Order: sequence, then structure tokens, then C-alpha cells
Amino acid sequence: MKCSFCDQNITIGTGKTYVKKDGKLLHFCSMKCEKNLLKLKRKPRETAWVRKRRSE
Ligand SMILES: [Zn+2]
Repeated sequence: MKCSFCDQNITIGTGKTYVKKDGKLLHFCSMKCEKNLLKLKRKPRETAWVRKRRSE
């Protein structure tokens, strides 16, 4: 399972699953990712720390 925002692998039992109004599931590894996507409506490709994390 991967984080819907930063694409990191999420260990089963950690992280958070969010159900959108249209029924789609979003998985988050942390509150940080949830907040960035849902509240700040940031795009992973345009977010510096996600790009950095993905390239590691
Ligand atoms: Zn994440």
C-alpha cells in the first residue's frame, strides 16, 4: 500500500485511510500528507519535500 500523496510505502496498521465523498479511497502515511492533499490541495509533483523523498 502506498501513500496517495508522497508515494511512500505504508506498513499495514500504520497510516490512515480516508474515504472521499465519491467513494474513492486515499491512503496517507502521515497527517502531514493528509493535510497537504486535503486541506492545502497541494500536488505531489509540485511539493518540494515529496519530490526529494521520491528521488531518494
Ligand atoms: Zn505520505
